[in-house]
Amino acid sequence: MDSKALSLIASAEAWAKPQTETQPHEAISSGMFMANMAGEIEAVNESLTAMLNLQQSELCGLPLHQLVVQEDQPRLLQFIEKVRHSADGGQEIPVCLHVDEGVAIEASLYLSVLRVPGRPPVLIGVLINQTQRLIREIADHFQREHRARITRLMALGEMASSIAHEINQPLTAIAAMAQACGQMLRAGKTPDLHQLSVIASEVEEQALRAAQVVKRIRGFVTHGNLRREAVAIGDILNTVLGIAMPEARAKGTRINILLSSESPTVEVDVIHLEQVCMNLIRNAIEAMSSLPEAQRAISIYSHQIGNLVVVTFDDAGPGVRADDREQIFEPFFTTKPDGMGLGLSTSQKIVQAHGGTLSVESNALGGARFVMTLPVMMEKGA
Ligand code: ADP
Repeated sequence: MDSKALSLIASAEAWAKPQTETQPHEAISSGMFMANMAGEIEAVNESLTAMLNLQQSELCGLPLHQLVVQEDQPRLLQFIEKVRHSADGGQEIPVCLHVDEGVAIEASLYLSVLRVPGRPPVLIGVLINQTQRLIREIADHFQREHRARITRLMALGEMASSIAHEINQPLTAIAAMAQACGQMLRAGKTPDLHQLSVIASEVEEQALRAAQVVKRIRGFVTHGNLRREAVAIGDILNTVLGIAMPEARAKGTRINILLSSESPTVEVDVIHLEQVCMNLIRNAIEAMSSLPEAQRAISIYSHQIGNLVVVTFDDAGPGVRADDREQIFEPFFTTKPDGMGLGLSTSQKIVQAHGGTLSVESNALGGARFVMTLPVMMEKGA
């Protein structure tokens, strides 16, 4: 081979090498060749012989288009023809190299004409093995799909679990009322029709509440929907007290609410906010279940600081360890044997979606203090 050709190959090899060095993990191997203008290979480097599993002697003299699988040959012949007549620099084409029987390599071919004054022009080509890159791209694609599926499944799981969590309370109330009805009817005496009708309306109300909770949660989880309305924070807390009292009484727990005189107005999705408060109260009741009854008390205090309403929920339970204060808001974090660990994560998301915050700290009794803040609704034109 002429020395000019050898030096050309050497410098081209040096050009190709940095790619392998800067991206060693990608294992892109490349090979070089020189061919005459008729398209017959005249010189190759060692990487190309290794890549194609052929000797130099087998490659030299071979028409370039015979390097690729049969289907690609007409396209490659056209490409060579185009490069030969082009005044531009190198051009690129994807090719499928034929290696052994049944083995092929996906590669990119860069081809250009080298014109050295006083010498016949030659074709210089670089073949870059793209198989590794393609395999990686396919693997990445599958990994992305897999991750997306897991995320969707987790969102679905979270939605299903929070629906189950939130409708548990109305369903328990419905079951208790149906039981009371059954007892009255089975007692043998003429049933008190007025009382039965009161129970029937209560059942209806609780069933509608469950349906509403499901609808709202679904809307929130899938579309982030909130149906906001202007309401005084005191009204929400009084409604919550009405809902929570039967459960609190049954567990021997007192609930004290202290509202500051102003009772500011917030613009919130009332059903969602009631669920958040109920969840905090239920957790507090559970946290104090092993205390003597006299000590089981929840204090709810609402006041305004600047343009925020701050509502605190204090209990006398064991409190939350400093190390766990971030974690308890993570989905599925629970220390209860039958807990789902979704109440606080869902509650925090709901409060944040209203522009507020939900956090936990310790109170003077060593119990937990959950602090919820919400923006005060601004007067129109204020
Ligand atoms: P779950 O009640 O199903 O466990 P939550 O998300 O509502 O799910 O609560 C997560 C965890 O936070 C609880 O398991 C408990 O360890 C802790 N926690 C919540 N509220 C209190 C509280 N008032 N006092 C002490 N720990 C609490």
